[in-house]
Amino acid sequence: MADYQAIVIGSGAGGLSAALTLARSGSSVLLLEAMPSFGGYLNPFRRKSYTFDTGLHYLGELGKGEQFWSLLDGLGIADKADFVELDPDGFDRYVVPDYEFLLCKGKERFREKLIRGFPKEERGINKFFDVFDRILRAMDASTSMEGGLLSMLGFLLKHPVMIKYSRIPYQKLLDEVTSDRRLQAVLNGHWGTYGLPPAKASVLIPLLVLNHYIEGAYYPKGGSGAFRDAFLNALKSNGAELKSRSRVVKIDKRGNEFQVETEGGEQHTARVVISNVDPVVTLGKLVNPELLPSKVRTKAKNLRPSVGAFYAFIGTDLDLPSLGITDANIHHYEDFDFNKIYDIQTGSTELESVPGYFITSPSVKDPDGGHVPQNCHSVEIVTFIGYSRFEKWANTSSMKRGEEYESLKQRMGERLVKAAERYIPGLTEHLDYIEYATPLTNEYWVNAVKGGCYAAEQTPDQVGPGRFGSFTAGIEGLFLVGAGTIGGGIMPCVASGVLAGGKAAHFLGLKS
Ligand SMILES: Cc1cc2nc3c(=O)[nH]c(=O)nc-3n(C[C@H](O)[C@H](O)[C@H](O)COP(=O)(O)OP(=O)(O)OC[C@H]3O[C@@H](n4cnc5c(N)ncnc54)[C@H](O)[C@@H]3O)c2cc1C
Repeated sequence: MADYQAIVIGSGAGGLSAALTLARSGSSVLLLEAMPSFGGYLNPFRRKSYTFDTGLHYLGELGKGEQFWSLLDGLGIADKADFVELDPDGFDRYVVPDYEFLLCKGKERFREKLIRGFPKEERGINKFFDVFDRILRAMDASTSMEGGLLSMLGFLLKHPVMIKYSRIPYQKLLDEVTSDRRLQAVLNGHWGTYGLPPAKASVLIPLLVLNHYIEGAYYPKGGSGAFRDAFLNALKSNGAELKSRSRVVKIDKRGNEFQVETEGGEQHTARVVISNVDPVVTLGKLVNPELLPSKVRTKAKNLRPSVGAFYAFIGTDLDLPSLGITDANIHHYEDFDFNKIYDIQTGSTELESVPGYFITSPSVKDPDGGHVPQNCHSVEIVTFIGYSRFEKWANTSSMKRGEEYESLKQRMGERLVKAAERYIPGLTEHLDYIEYATPLTNEYWVNAVKGGCYAAEQTPDQVGPGRFGSFTAGIEGLFLVGAGTIGGGIMPCVASGVLAGGKAAHFLGLKS
């Protein structure tokens, strides 16, 4: 008999949610996490009394009864995690040369604000919202679609908007609605939240992300760690066993039973395995290749990873609110052409300046959250960067990458902080703490393929059936969760855990 009914590998948002879904269904669950602490991109780190988030800046759909809230409610933790709502009049601040726009709560308010700001573009704006609504309705309907060609044809007949838009880049929709570059920038100011410029991103992703935030943006009280802990506490009280420092190196199957082996040589068996490790790694490195249909192996091998990030984590004694820093996230772009910014940032030459970056302050968003020492603030600045600039150190150990790597990181970090001085004057002279991170940091901490922020990049060919949205990989009892399935972002990852966990419970004959 197997040691457990289910083993979940990896404790990111997807793994935690899958493990909790199974544990609440009455399954015995072992959760194995490679790193010393749980959470993946929900795992914060603490330095000198400052706590920094690594992959959570804001969340949406958390009003009572909204989608994310309902997912958390279904997991029994909606009342265990507490959130502060960011300013409904402006939770995102998009800045392009000589123009800026505050994104406000409420889709209709947003539409009206756009029409007031761009009266000549009213027709295009209305067209944008019409397509937006029709795509959302289609996406909603797609969740209850049964498999098979007939069902797909019926769906497309009912939702012809998907025939036109589901396989094209966002730039095409933007060009259809307006040629005003300011308006295009506003409709696309959030591209950092999925890491692809309009010429590359699938139309579906910018619209789904905009929809995620448009009815209000939230930040967990106490930061990403408090949100992660709500899952961990619920897992423990539902009897799940949690093991950190347990990197899985092999998944094999004999008969109906999976064998899971860790780096330390431990062996565990289970009827079901759910992997929260990127599908490229799960299917390319962990699963015994003899178990895997060759089509699935090829698909995983050919997925292109998303872009990596360069971060500056800062503690400062500056009084940020008095300098005009609010709880709004700042999305700064030096050029209207976001495709150009992306190409510059992901190229292989060293950046002399930083054409696009994101600034947020956990301590301003959540002043009572214990993020900082008294009279201080924390700032996180993030920009995208090509992996190729760091690739030559890929197989070296963290903290031991040598002088050349450290000085490249230092130069890049100083440029980023200098750029951010536009918003926080004097920052360089007021650094109480500073630490930089590169795509190699995320490769090390969450096993992200090439340090990618959002698993496979969400181009038209790599969304929906182009990634692992069915949570399966052609091996009975093996399920996939996390950003490599539905898509990047914490809510999609939680949804993947709930849906795949439900499928796994059903497979085990349990009620979820
Ligand atoms: C800079 C940045 C900012 C972001 N901001 C936001 C935001 O504001 N809002 C939002 O919704 N989303 C945001 N995201 C995206 C979001 O954080 C991620 O999409 C999501 O958290 C990924 O969850 P996941 O389930 O894929 O697991 P991950 O977080 O990728 O975790 C995977 C886990 O598996 C473990 N693991 C890997 N290999 C093994 C192994 N062999 N054995 C055992 N364990 C293993 C890892 O250690 C890790 O704990 C951001 C991402 C980044 C990078």
